[in-house]
Amino acid sequence: MRPPYLLLDIDGVLIPFPDADGSTPATHTRHDVVPAGRSADNPVTVWLNSDHGPMLMDVIRTGLITPIWCTSWRQDATTLIGPLLGLPDLPYIDLPRPQITTSHPNGYLWKRDHVDAWLGDAPAVWIDDDFTRLDHDWAAARTAKGAGTILVQPAPRLGLHPEHLTEVMTWASRLPGARTA
Ligand SMILES: [Mg+2]
Repeated sequence: MRPPYLLLDIDGVLIPFPDADGSTPATHTRHDVVPAGRSADNPVTVWLNSDHGPMLMDVIRTGLITPIWCTSWRQDATTLIGPLLGLPDLPYIDLPRPQITTSHPNGYLWKRDHVDAWLGDAPAVWIDDDFTRLDHDWAAARTAKGAGTILVQPAPRLGLHPEHLTEVMTWASRLPGARTA
């Protein structure tokens, strides 16, 4: 059986949202990046935890999941953010660019309809900081139909912690047909 997808968000997961006073976790260091289509004199400041690269590589190397970026950074995830963490070129889901003013225009995460179509009936673990109750219902419904799905939801001001990846590995290793690491 093909390993389940690991869908990986960036903002609120690898890049924590700042606190009200603008501070970010002491574990994260500052980088200035220039996303595609932006001029070099207009970079975006991001905060990344260098431990996240090795943590994610430990998961990827098991072969128990198939990693893919699922983020509004789109291709910049592969070309800018991943390399700063020492990650190889990972594929990304080419999400649409809807004109929305909230991340939950229909009560659930705006990415979800696109992800649902992209996944088909493939099992998936999805790490994102922005799921709603309706997204958890969607995951439960997919699982009930045989497409095992779990949602892992870091706190957006804290981001990814090791226990989130432990949860990913525990789930993936228990799927029917999972390869042994
Ligand atoms: Mg996010």
